[in-house]
Order: sequence, then structure tokens, then C-alpha cells
Amino acid sequence: MAESSEVSLSPATIAVAAGRPPRRPDGPMNPPIVLASTYHAGGEVGYGRYGNPTWEMWETAVGALEGGVATSYGSGMAAVAAVLELVPDGGTVVASPDAYYGTLAMLARRCDQGRVAVRLVDLADPDASEPALEGADLVWLESPTNPMLRVVDLPRLCAAAHRVGALSVVDNTFATPILTRPLDLGAHVVVHSATKYLSGHSDLLMGVAVVRDAALAEQLVAYRSVNGSVPGTVEAWLALRGLRTLALRVERGQANAGVLAGRLTAHPRVSRVHYPGSGAMLSVELAATADAAERVGSHTRLWVHATSLGGVESSLERRRRWPKESALVPETLLRLSVGIEDVEDLWADLSQALEAAAG
Ligand SMILES: *Cc1c(COP(=O)(O)O)cnc(C)c1O
Repeated sequence: MAESSEVSLSPATIAVAAGRPPRRPDGPMNPPIVLASTYHAGGEVGYGRYGNPTWEMWETAVGALEGGVATSYGSGMAAVAAVLELVPDGGTVVASPDAYYGTLAMLARRCDQGRVAVRLVDLADPDASEPALEGADLVWLESPTNPMLRVVDLPRLCAAAHRVGALSVVDNTFATPILTRPLDLGAHVVVHSATKYLSGHSDLLMGVAVVRDAALAEQLVAYRSVNGSVPGTVEAWLALRGLRTLALRVERGQANAGVLAGRLTAHPRVSRVHYPGSGAMLSVELAATADAAERVGSHTRLWVHATSLGGVESSLERRRRWPKESALVPETLLRLSVGIEDVEDLWADLSQALEAAAG
């Protein structure tokens, strides 16, 4: 856990400047990778499950970006688990049926164990979902949604959660603090799979939870210390190195996604484009069979056929290839994570793959 500081700077600057060692002659500019399971007695940390100077630098930077106090974990799901632990036994969680499938699986498991009640409502429709918040202990929000990329009215739903005494949690993995700062919009907790945009290079798993309330921050750290869901030190260092370029990566990915969304809308093999107008995630429905849609991934040379998102490299997949993906997602829907390559190269590769898969 580490405090944020540079709140008045812009996110692009914070990503570069925050989470560095103190400036002193011959002091290193970058944080050291501290590989230690234990520390000399007499201090505040004592043991490697309770803290690490490398994590702390990363947490300082993410906390400053989101405007709160960050606690990091060994994966996005470990952060989700820590946040769901804030729900009292017998409590009620409200989430969307199109929330991240891992989060829904964790909720379903807790529901089966009798630990929580889960109410699934379409949170992208605030008029319909607001009444369902009555009696809730925690509301789980994601915007844009995955993989349909629908925008959720975060200020309205966070305010509604507040009114009924529920914690509002925003999984900000897709939008990143470059595009959305949920704590400023009224959320109590922000969660990230840092595996995705924050680290940005598809080379590690990490998660983080950010809050403003000191008591919540303490609970999040206590959970990690007891459950041992700590990040690796080298991962934290790599994630912080990746974070330095977050604004550049998001801006370039977004610019590329905007161009591709426009061209795909006019493409004869495409029946529908889902792009919320910001961010670097894009979904397309093909005027094709599921098999032909699946084949697109085997005809690209540049686009990586893989799950996950938020890396410097562009990737795509047909979401329904996963048996657990919601039946509400069309069979021919491809989800694209647009990277930072040259957009003309991306377009050339994608359009030839669409033709080749159809033929
Ligand atoms: C990937 C992802 C997660 C889970 O994170 P891991 O790092 O894979 O454990 C949670 N939420 C969203 C939106 C994600 O994309």
C-alpha cells in the first residue's frame, strides 16, 4: 500500500514521474528490484508477504494515476477476490451478466457456497437496473462492457449504490485511468487486471485495487497478507516499467481503433461494429458462419490469434470459441485488442484475413 501524491499533474505525466526513489546525488532514477523474503528485524515490514519496496513504487504510481491508495496482487483475479472479501457473509452482490467471466465464476462459486447472494442485472441499462440495487452490499461495474463494448453510466450507478449503502466497484481494466478515473466519478473501489493495459506487454500477470477510504485500504492489505496473494517482485518492476508508456500506448491504440472502426463499418464482410468511440478495444460481427469467423485468426500474420488484451501487439479472437462465453454474444463476433503498430499494416493484414477466411 502506498500513498498517492501528484494529483494535480496530468495522467501522462504521472505515469512517467510517480513511483521513483527520492532524488539524491548518485541515487538511482529507477526503483531497485528487491528480492528478499525477509528483512532485518526492528522495522515495519519484517517479512516478504507484508511488503516489498518494489511493489510499493508500483503502487505509488498506480495510486497517483487513479487518485487513491493502491494495493497490488499476483493477478487481476486475486485483486477481484480481495475486493469481494469486503462483502459481509450473507451479503448481496449486483453485477452485469456480461461482467468479466472470471469475476462471474468467482461470484457463482461464492453463491454456491452460500456465502453471498448474486443478482445479475444489465447495468448498461440504468433505468432498468437501478431498482435492483436496493439491499445490495456491493455493485460490480465495468465500462465499456466485454465484449459488446457498451458504455455504462458510472456516475449515476455509483451514486445509486451510495444511496443504498452499497460499495461501488469499477473494474477499470478496459478504460484505464488515461480515459476514466472512477474514484473521481464516485466509485469506492477501482480494480485492474494489470496484466492488460497497465503493464501493457503481455508478459506478466498482476492485479491492483485502489481506494480512497483508509479503512478499506487497510482491509485490502490485510487480506493480501493473510491470503498470500502477493505479486512477484520482478513482475512489479516490469509492470512499472510498462506503466511509464501507458498514455502513449492508449492514445496510439485508440487512434488506430478509431481508423479501423470506420473502415470495418464499410467492409462488406462485416455486419456490425461495436466501438464506443474511445479506447482501443473493438468488436465486429461478421456476415459469415461461425467457422469462417473462427478462421480469421489463422489467416492473420500480424494480428495475434489469442485471448487477452491490452498489449502493444494487436490481437483478436472469436469470443464464442470459449464454451463459457455468454450466449448473448453473437457466434461471429471477433473481439479486437488494437495495439500500437502502424495502422495501415494492421488494416492490410486484417482485410486480407477477412477475405481469406470467407473464401
Ligand atoms: C483479464 C481480466 C481480469 C482478470 O485478470 P487476470 O490478470 O487475468 O487474473 C479481470 N477483469 C477484466 C476486465 C479482465 O480483462
